Amino acid sequence: MQAQLNLIGANISFLWNLDRFLPNMSQPWEKYLKFRCTGCGNCCRETVVCITDEDIRRIVAGTGQSPQQFVKFFTRDEVAMSHNDPLWLRFDKARVVMGLRKIRDRCIFLDAPSNLCNIYEYRPVTCRDHPVNVSFSDTGAVVKMSLSRIVKCPHAWDGNISKREVRRAQSVNERYEKSYLAKVRAWNQRKGGTKTAASFLSYLGFVASH
Ligand code: SF4
Ligand code: SF4
Repeated sequence: MQAQLNLIGANISFLWNLDRFLPNMSQPWEKYLKFRCTGCGNCCRETVVCITDEDIRRIVAGTGQSPQQFVKFFTRDEVAMSHNDPLWLRFDKARVVMGLRKIRDRCIFLDAPSNLCNIYEYRPVTCRDHPVNVSFSDTGAVVKMSLSRIVKCPHAWDGNISKREVRRAQSVNERYEKSYLAKVRAWNQRKGGTKTAASFLSYLGFVASH
């Protein structure tokens, strides 16, 4: 069995304790706005990045690649994710989750020597959110904020993230995920027909490349 990878954007357990490095701020959540990524690349290596059909559309439009070049369907042996997670897709031979392909230990779009993302402008929404987890009230007030601990993250605390930026990324993420999950539910309830990677991509509206 292969080693299981944590999945960005799914319900996973936290592995890394960041809180001991936090600066003091007036509101408990404000400290997280000082987060700065140091570009180590760990979260582009030690995870599987789950994607939606909107992410695929954006990457195809931006790179000219076909979905078959960068999409992979991961089985239960390959990702650490709750069996009840709504992202699971029912295929003929297995339950799978849709994510970005990996090359050896890293995301297919990570430039290994530089640790830079080769599709930064088009990257999946979950990569934009990561590692800030936040929930807002209906009036836009922050209810709680935290940092994901799915990988060891040697970040700094001299950043300057705006609350507005965090809210925007989160609302886009929620909108795309809601739409994708509705498609996953409908797919899983479908009776008859083949259920494979090719037929799922076709169901999402992507034509097979030859
Ligand atoms: S693990 Fe943390 S510091 Fe490293 S690339 Fe990801 S967010 Fe940045
Ligand atoms: S798409 Fe870019 S930011 Fe997202 S995991 Fe891959 S290399 Fe990292």
